[in-house]
Amino acid sequence: MSQKNGSVDIFGLLTEDTNVNSEKKKRREALLAPTGVKDVFQDGKISINSYTCLGVQCKECIKVCPTTALYWGGGKVAIIEDLCVYCGACILNCQVDDCIKMERTRKDGRVEKFSKSKEILLFQKKANTNKRVQRVQSVMLKPQDYYTKYPKTRQK
Ligand code: SF4
Ligand code: SF4
Repeated sequence: MSQKNGSVDIFGLLTEDTNVNSEKKKRREALLAPTGVKDVFQDGKISINSYTCLGVQCKECIKVCPTTALYWGGGKVAIIEDLCVYCGACILNCQVDDCIKMERTRKDGRVEKFSKSKEILLFQKKANTNKRVQRVQSVMLKPQDYYTKYPKTRQK
């Protein structure tokens, strides 16, 4: 902790945190560059329960991880968290509910938590529906534009 003459240096603490974050960002950029994967979610947490994990007979999460953040080491699935982009592909392919737990924070501060494949599927379905609605809305005329385009339809 930053301390000057026995008192806590608040400014130092704030700038230290900023430096740590930018260091972390740079490290992630360098690690992710060879994978070609975009670092969409920089803030998050992920954990794997080695007691419920099916282990060596499964390894599905390792096969699907796009950044090779997951690997088999020390007799269990291990993770290099700096390589994790919190995409959820590992949870989607894990057969054991709550074995992998992930939390990610969006740029607007929204926190999303996943630990079951069905949660990822529901999320994808909802996101696709929202995209479809936006697409339809973008080609549909708004009521005021409709009257401008077809003035004869306006009631007198
Ligand atoms: S969420 Fe899972 S699959 Fe996605 S990058 Fe992280 S460890 Fe890999
Ligand atoms: S997919 Fe799930 S059960 Fe299979 S190795 Fe990975 S964490 Fe374990």
